[in-house]
Order: sequence, then C-alpha cells, then structure tokens
Amino acid sequence: MSRLAYYVPILGYHRVGEFKGDHVPTVSVEVFERQLEFLARLRYQVLGLEDVVKCLDEGRPAPRRATVITFDDGYEETHRCAWPVLKRFGFPATVFVTPGEVGLKGFATWQQVVEMAQDGMTIGSHTMHHSYIPLVPDERLAEELVESKKTIEARIGKPVHFISYPVGGYTPQAQAVVRQAGYLAACTTNRAASSRALDRYAIRRIKITERDRNLLAFRVKISGYYDLFRTLREPS
Ligand SMILES: [Zn+2]
Repeated sequence: MSRLAYYVPILGYHRVGEFKGDHVPTVSVEVFERQLEFLARLRYQVLGLEDVVKCLDEGRPAPRRATVITFDDGYEETHRCAWPVLKRFGFPATVFVTPGEVGLKGFATWQQVVEMAQDGMTIGSHTMHHSYIPLVPDERLAEELVESKKTIEARIGKPVHFISYPVGGYTPQAQAVVRQAGYLAACTTNRAASSRALDRYAIRRIKITERDRNLLAFRVKISGYYDLFRTLREPS
C-alpha cells in the first residue's frame, strides 16, 4: 500500500461514568481508566488540540504514537468522573460545552467548567444550543458559533480556540463563520471528510464507546491508520 495516510487519532468521548440507558455514548470509568493506562503503557504522547494545529501551521508531520482526548457536551460526569482520572495520568484534554446547557440537570455547572479550565483543561464551544448546524438558518449561525465562544470566554477568562459541531454536522458557510470568529480549528465526527487532506475546520475524530473495552479494537483506533479499517461515510 503506497499512500498510507497517518492522522493523529483524536478521540471523541461523550459521557464517562454510569450508564443511564439513554442515547449518550457512555464509557464506564473502569474502561476509561483501562484505556488511559493502555496509552501510558504504550508510551503514547497525549497532545492538546493546539499541538496538532501547531504542526499544521508549521507544515510538519504530527508525532507518531500521539493522540488527543476530547469530550463533547460537558456532562457533569466529565467533571466528576473523567477529570480525576485524566489528572492522575497527567493527560491534557478538551471539553466542548454548550452554554445553553451548562448547569442543566446532568451537565456541568459554570463553576465546574471554570474549575476545569483553571486546572489546565481546554474548554471549547459545542455551539450555543447544541444545534445541528446544517439545519440552522444563516442568520442564526453567528449566535451558535460566535456568541457561544464569547459566552464561554467571559465565564472562564481565557480565549476559546476550538469548536466541535454537534453530531458532526457542518456546512461551508459555518466553516467560514468559524474561521472569521478566530477559532483555530473545529472538530467533527468520523463521518465527515472523505478527502485525504486534513481540514482544520473539520478535523475528524474517532468515537470511543464501551465496546472499546476490547483493547485490541482500541489499539486499531489509536493507530493513526483507523481509516484504512473502515469505510468513510459522507459528511452529514
Ligand atoms: Zn454533542
């Protein structure tokens, strides 16, 4: 195989904690710990999203045996269950929060978001109302993409450089607004971008679920060649 495309695997978690029987992809704390322990044992370098962007800016390849850890939605379990485990391993991570949901039942409060930000977690936007971007009318894009950034920045007192599109959905217009708003990069899911080029405003992520308790499957996902093992679907 001649054109092996290596990508730094960016892991996309949702809830880490107890199973609630809802639609949210959940990983138990036990499996999460086991996965981080595996990364540590294989001497993986856990990078921040800013490190990946820096490699892109400088036109140099990202290091092998590296990965990035991200969480969508900002569940209260991210603060209560995942954060302590990350701290124990000294791994950085990014949490994408939705201002319209912060403090609601099941979600982290602003105080908890600020606490994580002050402790070195990167906080990103996940739009204002967890809206599926392709269905958002043009005149509301700024609210979802720009106001969410400003709202989070005002709360945490730090710039917000990253956004993740809910359910991975985006459009070229949304990407333009995101770029103009000053975001450095945007994350989607693994459904998007069948192109080989890395688009910094549609960075693919690999969804991690409880099924990845099988460390062999997890190892394939963190190999950086995961796309070779799956069929890319069209962007949603
Ligand atoms: Zn989400």
